[in-house]
Amino acid sequence: MTVGPAAPDAAEDAIAFGRRLFARPCTFIAGAASIDALPPPALPEIAFAGRSNVGKSSLLNALVGQKALARTSNTPGRTQQLNFFELSGALMLVDLPGYGYARAPKESAAGWTRLTQAYLKGRATLRRLCLLVDARHGLKDSDREIMALLDRTAVSYQAVLTKIDKVKPAALEALRAALKPELARHIACHPDIIATSAVTGAGIPELRAALAALAAPGHFG
Ligand code: GDP
Repeated sequence: MTVGPAAPDAAEDAIAFGRRLFARPCTFIAGAASIDALPPPALPEIAFAGRSNVGKSSLLNALVGQKALARTSNTPGRTQQLNFFELSGALMLVDLPGYGYARAPKESAAGWTRLTQAYLKGRATLRRLCLLVDARHGLKDSDREIMALLDRTAVSYQAVLTKIDKVKPAALEALRAALKPELARHIACHPDIIATSAVTGAGIPELRAALAALAAPGHFG
């Protein structure tokens, strides 16, 4: 739950800035099932990825304070789409397909859609990918495959722990301690780990602050 080594006032300002930005309307723009269907790159983009069931939809909904924003992505048959949500002229939030679902081999990291990989390689406006990791499970091999892909494609990414309400504080600290050195070995990985719960709201202000820092300037006061 950190927004970097800023002074307390700067950290508070960043939290307030994030809160104001994410209070703005967020709307579904497009669900892209092919490269041609991607909306034109205009705003800075934040992509969200993680294993199926990691809590991605819940986190997106918690971030924007809407109960059902990301439900679109869970519509059966549409899970391999890239879903774009615009946050009020300032940021595009991009919900990527889940991966690593044991009963659906096509959703393994290796089979993570060609479309997703093409998007990651070619999207000049992509500022950061939030790699969601279930705090109960830590990194799995499928996450490591995705991290290797992100390193290769030079996509800047950041680990975001989900469901921290399900683990005891000591277990959370142990997970952080185990993750830090592993993440540090990845060239494209941001050093800060943000720990969140969509249920309690823990870490949501910090994540908003970190993402708001990447928003297009001058779009709100
Ligand atoms: P997705 O498949 O990654 O989009 O995951 P969902 O957002 O649909 O969540 C998967 C399951 O985890 C659902 O049963 C959620 O209610 C549950 N879940 C999601 N986030 C949290 C959280 O922060 N805490 C707890 N306890 N459960 C969560």
